[in-house]
Amino acid sequence: ESRLERHHYDVVIVGAGGAGLRAAIAAHEAGAHTAIVCKSLLGKAHTVMAEGGIAAAMGNRWPEDNWEVHFRDTMRGGKMLNNWRMAQLHAQEAPERVQELEDWGALFDRTEDGLISQRDFGGHKYARLAHVGDRTGLEMIRTLQQRAVALGIDVFMECTITDLLKAAGTDEEGPIAGAFGYWRETGRFVVFEAPSVILATGGIGKAYKVTSNSWEYTGDGHALALRAGASLINMEFVQFHPTGMVWPPSVKGLLVTESVRGDGGILKNSEGKRFMFDYIPEFFKAETADSEEEADRWYDDKKNNRRPPELLPRDEVARAINSEIKAGRGTPHGGIYLDIASRRDADFIRKRLPSMYHQFKELADVDITAEPMEIGPTCHYVMGGVEVDPDTEATSITGLYAVGECSGGMHGSNRLGGNSLSDLLVFGSRAGAAAAAYVSGLDVLPKADEHAVQAGERRAVAAFTGSGEGGENPYTIQHDLQQAMNDLVGIIRTSSELEESLSSIEALKERAKAMAVEGHRQYNPGWHLALDLRNMLLVSECIAKAALERQESRGGHTRDDFPGPDPEWGAKNLVLRLNAAGTGVDLTHQPLPVMPDDLKSYFEE
Ligand code: FAD
Repeated sequence: ESRLERHHYDVVIVGAGGAGLRAAIAAHEAGAHTAIVCKSLLGKAHTVMAEGGIAAAMGNRWPEDNWEVHFRDTMRGGKMLNNWRMAQLHAQEAPERVQELEDWGALFDRTEDGLISQRDFGGHKYARLAHVGDRTGLEMIRTLQQRAVALGIDVFMECTITDLLKAAGTDEEGPIAGAFGYWRETGRFVVFEAPSVILATGGIGKAYKVTSNSWEYTGDGHALALRAGASLINMEFVQFHPTGMVWPPSVKGLLVTESVRGDGGILKNSEGKRFMFDYIPEFFKAETADSEEEADRWYDDKKNNRRPPELLPRDEVARAINSEIKAGRGTPHGGIYLDIASRRDADFIRKRLPSMYHQFKELADVDITAEPMEIGPTCHYVMGGVEVDPDTEATSITGLYAVGECSGGMHGSNRLGGNSLSDLLVFGSRAGAAAAAYVSGLDVLPKADEHAVQAGERRAVAAFTGSGEGGENPYTIQHDLQQAMNDLVGIIRTSSELEESLSSIEALKERAKAMAVEGHRQYNPGWHLALDLRNMLLVSECIAKAALERQESRGGHTRDDFPGPDPEWGAKNLVLRLNAAGTGVDLTHQPLPVMPDDLKSYFEE
């Protein structure tokens, strides 16, 4: 045992995005000895890529805005499948969390009166996103990181957690006692002993071929939670962002922020038609403009006009784009046009959307102040995640918490733009405080099961000692998985394809058993991918299984064979747990928590 590097903490946080950093600050402030472990460099988490802003009903642009309106927008955007309590806490606490960022040094764009500026986004009734140009995530990470480091919180970077450790002498239901991982550079193993672990690992996007997500998003937290005995919910709901780059191929999927539409950009097909007016669903008719004239007037006079249909929630816009492309009205590179050039002057575009301007100029040689962009849907966000208690973010496993994109419930079947960054802050803060409180109440600290440590070591090196000759390269398996998920579990789903996806995943799991990695443990990306693949395969199975089970269309889940929403399905969550053999997942149904009557009244017309 002494040969292993070991550390002892009260609270260990896996992930250094907004959720992990905010949780760490809260745990530290509550007196817990806290560490952050992250698999890339500090500051390189996904949160840094967030462009548009943080949703919070601060009322700086619209005094009429308040938490009740934000709550209603969030629930309607999620097609009422959200955990109502999470949506309520989120709407109530987001303004305070944003204000606090400013107190910690974040510099937001301002209104004319010197307040934090708020911009329009899809599905939000009022301009609500606090922002810094189109680089909000960068400012948020910078602020949180500086605070975390200033407080003296320990950070272990380029260190990947591969297993959670349970307490010695307990069964699958037993409490958490730490985490096991390896240093990416040296390949050496490391054990973190801690009675509390907070998962803040982000999403699953790398399971898909076309995605706005980076290499880190392999569903690690989702898979770690499952293996530790916790459950996942809502995994069928994957958000395809309507606007990703489609050209050149090397950047296919890269995000084009929704702010382009919030600031006046419109969608056109190859015939030059502004087609979104043909796709306004009944559910949003009352609040959406039905003519170009009204839609255009809205930008200057929001009181007397309804919103343009380009700003419907993401699931609606992504489906509409998909239909136009399928109908043969796409662009030369298989996308749709997003046009802000003909609608706003060049100075405005460069000032409001500096990153987008450079992104297109440098990567596609397109000047967005002069010509339209070509865009198409891209896998962006997973609504599904670890099932948690809404107030504390505790999972069903004692000592284990989950927060941020890897947790589930908050966004229901579809997340509104801007609601992730606020989610990270609100629930990060709550999780950190709850984990610290749990640890301070313990008389005896759980001791990590040494057999589990050894099993973690064996599993981690299996790909080296595996079948050797003839064993498959992890990159080929990842490629085939991404293709299968894209083709068979994408925006529009159907039973036969979902069944096919499940057999593909089973076959890939078999192939992965015989995976072989060459070289040694010192910085070896092939080996790292082999370890990540275990998680990607498990999480993909969860998505496909839940997508096949849910026989309705709702939010981020669209079934060709069940095109409408169904109230019966709308009243339940699908829950996934690791099966008894540990080889896959079992699925069960669970009724949604019932919303209290006073909140229900917000949805009566
Ligand atoms: P992340 O910020 O991704 O952090 C995950 C952390 O976990 C990383 O530090 C990673 O290294 C670490 N990690 C993962 N696995 C392991 C492991 N096994 N061991 C150790 N560490 C691990 N949302 C908004 O609200 N507004 C926006 O404007 C917006 N714009 C976006 C733009 C883009 C391009 C993208 C991709 C997303 C955008 N989102 C936006 C969504 C939002 O950015 C993410 O949902 C959010 O940042 C997720 O934060 P997180 O803290 O949960 O995870």
